[in-house]
Amino acid sequence: MDIEIKNQCMLCHDLFENSELSAEHYPAKSVGNNDIVALDLVKMFDFLLDKENIQNFFTDIETGKEFNKKLDMLFDNELSTTQYPRGRVAYTLCRSCNTFLGKYDEAYKKFFDSDGNPKVVSGFVKQTKIKIIKAIYAKFLSLPECSGIKFDFIDYLKSTDQDSYDGLWQIYFLKRSQSTDILNMRSLDVGVLNYDEGQVFELSDEKFIFHLTNFKPKNNVTGINLFSIQNKYVLVGGENIDGSGGYHGEMIIKKMLDLEN
Ligand SMILES: [Zn+2]
Repeated sequence: MDIEIKNQCMLCHDLFENSELSAEHYPAKSVGNNDIVALDLVKMFDFLLDKENIQNFFTDIETGKEFNKKLDMLFDNELSTTQYPRGRVAYTLCRSCNTFLGKYDEAYKKFFDSDGNPKVVSGFVKQTKIKIIKAIYAKFLSLPECSGIKFDFIDYLKSTDQDSYDGLWQIYFLKRSQSTDILNMRSLDVGVLNYDEGQVFELSDEKFIFHLTNFKPKNNVTGINLFSIQNKYVLVGGENIDGSGGYHGEMIIKKMLDLEN
């Protein structure tokens, strides 16, 4: 007897054949997920340990602009490996759910384009802010690390009328900066940290790092709650995070340790 393997759509929970699921970009294509390269940590440390490399790197740099340009080139040409040349996708949603959630992505793009600037975001209509929040929650459904988890925000995402959610899972976010990214190299890696209290999932775009957690984080390990964007808020950047880099720093260290094993 043939056993057909069906996959469950993470939003409607119906079962589909693989070919019926659609490719969902996480994060969205428009916010940097079109050619994902990863910072090659082994190459980077080799680079940093070689004095000559460092000297060469700083030769001819006179302005901050030159520095950033050279840094970008270094990242692109020497220290990165292409992981997902056409963007990173997961087959976690059926076509109709993918189309449905796509409507939220437009709002997320507006947030991204405005750099999350509180002055700009406060001018968005209420519905746009709600869509931004839902779009970011929805992206976590496509994380391979999240498969099999029964999230309690599914109805909130599915309903166009439900404006608020006060369930178990909260999202906190940080603005990327030199402090969140070693040498200003923005990796769009995803990851998970497991604690006694619960779990932390990380997803990022080129400007922000998002953490989905099912417990209240300690101070200074991540940024502000995503729902704060509905009111007055102040962006939190890497410089506000404790010395060890908070959750994001811990994810990087975890990845380095995984590489060694
Ligand atoms: Zn579906």
